[in-house]
Amino acid sequence: ASIFAAVEMAPRDPILGLNEAFNADTRSEKVNLGVGVYYDDNGKIPLLGAVRAAEKARLEAQPPRGYQPIEGPAAYNGAVQNLLFGKDSALIANAQVVTVEALGGTGALKVGADYLKRLLPGATVYISDPSWENHRALFESAGFPVDTYAYYDAATRGVNFTGMKTSLEAAPAGSIIVLHACCHNPTGADLSDAQWNEVVDACRARGLVPFLDMAYQGFADGIDADAVAVRAFSASGLQFFVSSSFSKSFSLYGERVGALTIVTAGKDESARVLSQVKRVIRTNYSNPPIHGGAVVAAVLNSAELRQEWETELAGMRDRIRAMRTGLVDQLKAAGATQDFSFVAKQRGMFSYTGLSAAQVERLRAEFGIYAVSTGRICLAALNSKNIGYVAQAIAAVTK
Ligand code: PLP
Repeated sequence: ASIFAAVEMAPRDPILGLNEAFNADTRSEKVNLGVGVYYDDNGKIPLLGAVRAAEKARLEAQPPRGYQPIEGPAAYNGAVQNLLFGKDSALIANAQVVTVEALGGTGALKVGADYLKRLLPGATVYISDPSWENHRALFESAGFPVDTYAYYDAATRGVNFTGMKTSLEAAPAGSIIVLHACCHNPTGADLSDAQWNEVVDACRARGLVPFLDMAYQGFADGIDADAVAVRAFSASGLQFFVSSSFSKSFSLYGERVGALTIVTAGKDESARVLSQVKRVIRTNYSNPPIHGGAVVAAVLNSAELRQEWETELAGMRDRIRAMRTGLVDQLKAAGATQDFSFVAKQRGMFSYTGLSAAQVERLRAEFGIYAVSTGRICLAALNSKNIGYVAQAIAAVTK
């Protein structure tokens, strides 16, 4: 018999399954709000001008394609550190920061998880309730038990901060706490600056190990403003982990550009930690691909391209905001009986709309509008052409 004869079919990824159903839908007015990708007002994934310029220069230079360092190039890793901590950070000056390039935010989380499993084999990982659907699977696949901390409050459509603190205070010392640094996925509900300071205090008091997931830096308020959580932990004297993704902020999804950053107590620790993280990488994929990281480094390390990128990033951020307020206004105009003003207060690409699974199903069946059954929608999939139609449909199914 075949060695595969008894293999069971793995469950389908719920969001990719949604895309397949969307693609098969023949209605011309269909809209896919289920994705986690930024589209421009023409419904296209943008190729940023700064990226295009950096790519053109690379292509013209025709560089050789040797192996990269296991941890990725220093020019890239340094640029990532500056984005996270600010270029005048004392942590960087003190060599307390270890950064390795990784295959997107997902790859950064996985390298971090695999390294943590060696460092803290008995730890439990806590993720927010709810969280990005891959967090649980990813940390479980690294061998950790995964539990949740209270996060979302359906009544206020914001953060249940009292519940969150209670959860953190009950977590065993040495637990790993995965935190969304900004633009919480899937809810769009973020902590305030003051609440971040309280989370830092709770991590210190309980001896918790923070792992910040930064997948949307620049999508809420700006590059530095969105680093408030990272900066709060930087000032704390604690050790912590950060995963960075440039999939959204550079619109480089398929190039797989990200980084894992670890803050240590000092230079000597940094050298030892880096040597161990390099072992994790070496036995997984040896060293990162060249192109995406080279493009991001070229943009971040050129004053001119960096300016262009910041302008383009602000454009994406402003367009999402305009879609948030536009949706609130158009829902009202469409006669929606519910108050949707919370949509304008949430941040990043997503909103937990409060739509029930049955309402989401009606959106699909009656209107060809696809959303995740939890009611999560991607605001960046709205545009000036489809927003009115989507508002009418949501108003209709929530009457
Ligand atoms: N973390 C969060 C919270 C995300 O939303 C995403 C992407 O959707 C990722 C990580 C993964 O990013 P990447 O596509 O760079 O692997």
